[in-house]
Amino acid sequence: MLAEPGAALGYDLLSLMGPADPHDRPRGRIEVIAGGMFSGKSEELVRRLRRALIARQRIQVFKPVADDRDPPGVLVTRDNRELAAESVADSAELRRRLRDDVQVVGIDEAQFFDLELAELVTELADRGVRVIVAGLDQDYRRQPFGPMPAILALAEYVDKMHAVCVRCGGAAHYSQRIAGGREQIQVGDTGAYEARCRACYETYEPARPG
Ligand code: ZN
Repeated sequence: MLAEPGAALGYDLLSLMGPADPHDRPRGRIEVIAGGMFSGKSEELVRRLRRALIARQRIQVFKPVADDRDPPGVLVTRDNRELAAESVADSAELRRRLRDDVQVVGIDEAQFFDLELAELVTELADRGVRVIVAGLDQDYRRQPFGPMPAILALAEYVDKMHAVCVRCGGAAHYSQRIAGGREQIQVGDTGAYEARCRACYETYEPARPG
């Protein structure tokens, strides 16, 4: 009788193949929800965190103080669902605020954080914490934004969200700036940005005063 493949190596080859069973996943992991503005990143973050709450997991949610769209202390999605969030200045403050027994950490608008955020999320995941990071992967010039490219590379699970292009109705991945200056960070999205697809994206030139 022929031996099963892999038997000589002392393990069942089949166990190494096939899609990952969610129940086999180690608890510690990095998930990224990336995309342009208006693509529903915060909504998806809130959805995952609510499920963790229902599962009675100990969660903490952070956002950068640079994000002044919402009142401090809450994370408000465009559909006006609220979740308690702590506003922090940088990744060092986020680290100081972490509770020892936290199981799930959510981070919104991660593009506004410093580059050390990538090290911190790795450290947390190694410690067994599930880290869910939401943020813009590109700025309005379509350049990788802040610590997001590093975190995207480090994550086990990545979801790229798409908005709807306001010009053609296609899937939009870009945050088209339509008003204001050339600064990378210009918080406040109503009026200053719109979602555009690759075909409809245009290089932004600020209007000259006078
Ligand atoms: Zn378009």
